[in-house]
This record gives sequence, structure tokens and C-alpha cells, in this order.
Amino acid sequence: MSKKLDIVKRKDLLTVEDLHMVYKTSRIESVALQGITFRVRAGEFVAIMGPSGCGKSTLLHILGGLLRPSSGRVLLDGVDIASAPDRERTELRRRKIGFVFQRFNLLPTLTSRDNLQLAMQLRRNGRRIDPARSEELLRLLGLEDKMQHKPSELSGGEQQRVAIARALITRPAILLADEPTGNLDSGNSRMVLDMLKELNSKYKQTVLMITHDPEAAAVANRIIEMRDGQLLSRVQNLFYAVEQKLL
Ligand code: ADP
Ligand code: MG
Repeated sequence: MSKKLDIVKRKDLLTVEDLHMVYKTSRIESVALQGITFRVRAGEFVAIMGPSGCGKSTLLHILGGLLRPSSGRVLLDGVDIASAPDRERTELRRRKIGFVFQRFNLLPTLTSRDNLQLAMQLRRNGRRIDPARSEELLRLLGLEDKMQHKPSELSGGEQQRVAIARALITRPAILLADEPTGNLDSGNSRMVLDMLKELNSKYKQTVLMITHDPEAAAVANRIIEMRDGQLLSRVQNLFYAVEQKLL
């Protein structure tokens, strides 16, 4: 089958082709990605794992349309988010992508519910918003009794769950998570990971999570290993999975 035909397979939600990224300033040139290729099918939970500095955040920012790669393609539902004009890229990001970061980025003066409401308002450009959806999502994330709490009145794990609920407000095709348990103790990490797992298994939410923690990666259906801006080969990944008793 030709490469062209191969990439339009229906079930591929995300197709990443030969991504390169070089950060250039007048002083430095830093190679962050050197030829990344992989796919994510709808309904998968994929973890990308690698040590600090290997390019994970750079990759996630490019996949989410926050950063343009030096070269390569990122097809989300068949549209190349890497080369789309800024307006289209913003629109794609708003409609199709949910982000969760290590820092929860909640507005400190707003309650959980209002953090979600605001996100919905911003995304919908002032069109009618549905307050029931915020509450439904908070309930889904086990926060039914925390709707009126402000971030400072919540634990780290609860704040991250609010951030996940907020990311889901637009029913994104894919949830991109960058070290979502990086700021959490083990109990809270467990809870957040279980929630992500449940969103995937029960609600078929596609998740791509980046982490350097093998325990976090273990909740995914598939782990891709990354080193120095490259992915380890499939064979190496298979060995890794067997070693970690993931298969
Ligand atoms: P990770 O998330 O795996 O820790 P990053 O994607 O943050 O890795 O960084 C990958 C490499 O790119 C590192 O060598 C880092 O120093 C470099 N880098 C990241 N962001 C920038 C930037 N804005 N300008 C220059 N170099 C950067
Ligand atoms: Mg990072």
C-alpha cells in the first residue's frame, strides 16, 4: 500500500510524520526533535515516555498547535495542524484538542464550576453556554461536593481533576496531557491516572499523555519511548514492554 493511501485510514485520529524541531535564537541552536513519526487511533490511550530534556513538551506543544515545527506534518482528523494558517490552527485547537498541564492553570479567584464556565464561554465565543455541562463534568471527575471551592481550597489532585474537567468541556477529539501527575504526591497521582484511564475505557476519550514516570505510563494501552528527540524503534518498545511486564 502506498504511503498516501496508508495515512488516510479512517481510524487514525492523529498522524505525525517526520517531525523536526530546532529552536533557534541569535545565540543558540537547540535540536529538540529529529524525525518523529507515529499514529494514534481514535479511542487509544497512548503514553510517550522519556527522560527530562528529550523533547516531550516540544512534541506535545506541536501536536496541540501551540508551536510550529521546523518541518513535518501533524494530521488531526486529516487536517495538517502544523501548516494550517494561524486562524485555522486556533480554531482546530479550540474545537478538537483538550490540554492538561503539570501546572493546573486554574484561575485562583474562581470556583471549580466557574473555571469551567469561563472556559466554555471563551471557547464558544459568547454563544449560549450550558451550565449543566460544567456540573456534569465535575461530577464525572468525582468533584460533586467541590463545585463551589476555589483552587486554594482544593488538594493538588482535586485541582488537576478540575483542570481535566475543563479540558473536556468542548468534547475534544483528543486530550493532550503533559506530565499531568508531575506536581502530585503518589495518592493524588493514582487518582488522576485512574480518572484518565476511566475516561478512556468508559467514555472512549482518546488520550495522549507525556510522562517520565513508568507508573504513570503503565495506565496507557500503548507506550512509546523517546530519547534525544527520537522515538525508540518498535522492537525496542516491545522489549521495553515485556521488561516492564506491560504485555
Ligand atoms: P522535555 O519536555 O522532555 O523535558 P523539552 O521539549 O522541554 O523536553 O526540551 C527539549 C530540548 O529543547 C531541550 O534540550 C531544551 O533545552 C530545548 N528547548 C525547549 N524549549 C526551548 C526554547 N524555547 N528555546 C530553546 N531551546 C528549547
Ligand atoms: Mg517537559
